[in-house]
Amino acid sequence: MSTTQTSKAMPAICNEGCNNQFEVNGFQTARLPGAIEKTYFICPHCKHEYVAFYTDSEVRQLQDKIRRIQSQLQNPRADQTSTLKKIKKTQASIKAGMDRVRAAVEGGVGL
Ligand SMILES: [Zn+2]
Repeated sequence: MSTTQTSKAMPAICNEGCNNQFEVNGFQTARLPGAIEKTYFICPHCKHEYVAFYTDSEVRQLQDKIRRIQSQLQNPRADQTSTLKKIKKTQASIKAGMDRVRAAVEGGVGL
């Protein structure tokens, strides 16, 4: 439960609920069956839940990996071009993984 990376407030509109504007102050996470974690935020006015993304252990491993790759950017001797390429590739895998988990959770297919 320490995956909150966004601590900056971000404005949102409750377009699926009461249509009020509110500020998102970081995400909450909930554990679902199958080692899936749901990252979400809730409208403070009507309590409508908005899911930011889902992760499973595979996606979380990729998130760890991307953090390690990103830390290589601090190293002036590292090959920045190839590091950025790796980051892009890993980001694409993370996005595909999140889509896969979301489809499984929301489609009720199970894993
Ligand atoms: Zn609302």
